[in-house]
Amino acid sequence: MTTVRTRFAPSPTGFIHLGNIRSALYPWAYARATGGVFILRIEDTDLDRSNQASVDVILEGMSWLGMDPDEGPFYQMKRMDRYREVLAKLVELEAVYPCYMSVEELDALREKQMLAKEKPRYDGTWRPEPGKLLPPIPEGVKPVLRFKNPIDGVVSWDDKVKGLITISNQELDDLVIARPDGTPTYNFCVVVDDIDMQITHVIRGDDHVNNTPRQINIFKALGALPPVYAHLPTVLNEAGEKMSKRNGAKAVTQYRQEGYLADAMVNYLARLGWSHGDDEIFSREQFLEWFNLDHLGRSAAQFDEAKLRWVNAQHMKKMGDQELASHVKVFLDKENIATDDRLVPICGLFKDRCDTLVALAAWVRSFYASVEIPSEEREKHVVSSVLGAIELLSAKLEQLSETNWTKESIALVLKEVLADTGLKMPQLAMPVRVLLMGTPQTPSLDAVIALFDSKTVLERLRAVKN
Ligand code: GLU
Repeated sequence: MTTVRTRFAPSPTGFIHLGNIRSALYPWAYARATGGVFILRIEDTDLDRSNQASVDVILEGMSWLGMDPDEGPFYQMKRMDRYREVLAKLVELEAVYPCYMSVEELDALREKQMLAKEKPRYDGTWRPEPGKLLPPIPEGVKPVLRFKNPIDGVVSWDDKVKGLITISNQELDDLVIARPDGTPTYNFCVVVDDIDMQITHVIRGDDHVNNTPRQINIFKALGALPPVYAHLPTVLNEAGEKMSKRNGAKAVTQYRQEGYLADAMVNYLARLGWSHGDDEIFSREQFLEWFNLDHLGRSAAQFDEAKLRWVNAQHMKKMGDQELASHVKVFLDKENIATDDRLVPICGLFKDRCDTLVALAAWVRSFYASVEIPSEEREKHVVSSVLGAIELLSAKLEQLSETNWTKESIALVLKEVLADTGLKMPQLAMPVRVLLMGTPQTPSLDAVIALFDSKTVLERLRAVKN
């Protein structure tokens, strides 16, 4: 059996967003699922629009998501010699011909065709045929090279997403594959690369469906077997429009900054156009075990940020506290907040109430840096009738030795204070939470206090009057 070889071939012309990266996820997953090879190819021939910043986002995004290529990145701009070599071969095979039609002539032709309600297409003026007399070659004009598309017959392929697609060759005119300065054009480079890189499966966005019959014809002219194609439906944004930077799509790396886990992103993106029964939450390993090209969705998928947050929350819940803490630490480090071995249990205690690492880091921050107490919370909860109880609590907590600074002992102290003051737990717990963490909504108070160092607790409780 031949080894599966897939590729992701982005054009670095804008920040890669979730819709783009989904086109990387499936070829990557298919290669991994089949023990194949995943290749990264940067299609940077559009010199006006390509830029290094976009390349960086591609590389950083893929590395963050753990979608590392086995081969590449290959840059098309570095392969120009190879394209010229293959172009020379096509000339030799008489599969291309020079066309001297000027832009003005082409425009006039298009206008005429449109007036006649015909589809605009090159009319084959310069296409050599046996017995045909070509026009005289105009002086000083550098020709383009056009590909001799077959005149009759059809091109068809069994698309793994869309099913059998058949296009009549009459629909396809002779494509320009080299510009007057000899630089090759897009469709030609893609085919040369897919042949050289021995790609077996092209999995890409369905905005390329129209290129496929042209590309297949070039494969054939070069005596190569076309790969299997799978054209993925578009990813729509929340407003139902095609996702693009122009209408607010974020760079994929932005999600890392917003505190999403790579595995959650992979899980979420996987479900944007592929399914495994009703499974919504799965690990990277499960995904790679299950992934195949038979369950790709046929209709456009719509991005839903709330769902992404939910998926992320599920992954955070499932993750071991130690590992989660190492992810949270990255965010705290950025703020120069030093942590200690309490970080792991703090993450364990708070993870259930967070849907991003950023939200979890915000909770952790209260343990290591000063807290802002919103005045309305203070006014509402830290009322004069509880001040005595808070003072008593401070005094009793102060008596606890280092080794007794445990959830159990703290629970007993809290009980004693309630017994001594006649308050109910919420009457005491709410103001203490507000003083310690700036909010009355926290996990169980004994567990929270136990994770603070005693000095901070006493300081915050005694700052009650400030
Ligand atoms: N460079 C193309 C793009 O970014 C993809 C080409 C392909 O996958 O064949 O849309």
